[in-house]
Amino acid sequence: MSDPLNHSYYAATAHAWRPHSFEDEDRDCDVAVIGGGFTGLSAALACAERGFSVSLFEAEHIGFGASGRNGGQLIPGLRWTASELEAEFGRERADALFGLCWCDNRVKARIDRHGIDCDLKPGHLEAAWTPKDFDAMRREADHLAARFGYKSDVVAKADMGAHIGSTLYHGGIHDPQSGHFHPLNYALGLAKAAEAAGVRIVEGRRASPDTARARFVIDATDSWIGEVEPDLGRYTVPIMNYNIATAPLANADALLPSDAAVADSRFVLNYFRLSADKRLIFGGGERYSQTPPRDIAAFVRPFMAEVFPGIADARIDYGWGGAVAVTMNRLPHIGRRGNVFFAHGFSGHGALVTTLAGELIAEAMAGTAERFDVLASLPSRPFPGGKWLRRPLATLGLLYYAMKDRLG
Ligand SMILES: Cc1cc2nc3c(=O)[nH]c(=O)nc-3n(C[C@H](O)[C@H](O)[C@H](O)COP(=O)(O)OP(=O)(O)OC[C@H]3O[C@@H](n4cnc5c(N)ncnc54)[C@H](O)[C@@H]3O)c2cc1C
Repeated sequence: MSDPLNHSYYAATAHAWRPHSFEDEDRDCDVAVIGGGFTGLSAALACAERGFSVSLFEAEHIGFGASGRNGGQLIPGLRWTASELEAEFGRERADALFGLCWCDNRVKARIDRHGIDCDLKPGHLEAAWTPKDFDAMRREADHLAARFGYKSDVVAKADMGAHIGSTLYHGGIHDPQSGHFHPLNYALGLAKAAEAAGVRIVEGRRASPDTARARFVIDATDSWIGEVEPDLGRYTVPIMNYNIATAPLANADALLPSDAAVADSRFVLNYFRLSADKRLIFGGGERYSQTPPRDIAAFVRPFMAEVFPGIADARIDYGWGGAVAVTMNRLPHIGRRGNVFFAHGFSGHGALVTTLAGELIAEAMAGTAERFDVLASLPSRPFPGGKWLRRPLATLGLLYYAMKDRLG
């Protein structure tokens, strides 16, 4: 295990992949994509489908970043509720955002179209940490149904057993439109589709906007964006987040009877789901230090034990982590500067929206920017504090909210 952060269940069960393209002399292309995660792969594939010649450069290997390490929870929307978006931006913009971010499931479309084998399963439960959280969730679910016809099931505390074998939560919302998947195999499936569409994929190549002679550059490096475009680096801070996978569990179906993925409503949330081979994949706890805990399993296990005391001592086969790029307002930062397009800072809510963002970049590049602009017009501002103080100041803010969690 050379990289302790990369000792993941996903890496251990990844489908075989080797890019066919190799570095060659001719580096001219229409589009150079930097970063081989969901955003870069989706953009590269969509650009190739529109007839652009595309080279994609990935510093390590496909899915090395957050895309190959995440919780695999496919939750429509953004980190803000639809009501919050409407209160802030008005009805028209909220409608446009809802249409794209809640209803336009490009991940499912890609999986179906390319036959990507990535253990996709339907169902997601948002579990209320407090009765107050449950009230807020219920109000939002009613609003989504009344305003947009978006249907989800309000689950009272007494009925939670249909979805989760834990008494910790005060009710929840089950959304059948959400789901979960094996994120690395989805990324690899996108990479294969991109290659088939003509994208030249170069792994092991750390790139800059000058690496290729290209008409357009797409910077899809998320947590690393400051290394490529220092100014964009001011808009996010990386927060380390850790996951574990237990050994396959004989009682897995009792833990999550409906096989939905679950995320709870704490600020530093717990999120978990079953893998195809009935392991519990559990994410919990954030660390504001960039240094990983020496023993990731020991770090995450207490969070799992709090939710499922019956498996407190279960064998843990994998533990890994990754950086979540978080913006000031937790909305993604998407835009264009000259011939450089970028999309980053999905703030822990990128598994669905990254594929959409990549496709909308391709659409804008081909001349139709209307839908791209819906995302690009989300407000953003850099973290205060300059290069040295940015992270400590952001950490203080996050610690404040984490403390509020603990105080209830
Ligand atoms: C532990 C964890 C759990 C998460 N869980 C969820 C979840 O359950 N649901 C959800 O919706 N979201 C989740 N997220 C967030 C989600 O994974 C991300 O928003 C999404 O994967 C970002 O995709 P991306 O393609 O923009 O970035 P990444 O996947 O990080 O890709 C960026 C790539 O750029 C490459 N790169 C960097 N610099 C260079 C360079 N100079 N040249 C070439 N390549 C470079 C990196 O190696 C990397 O592969 C989670 C994130 C983490 C870390």
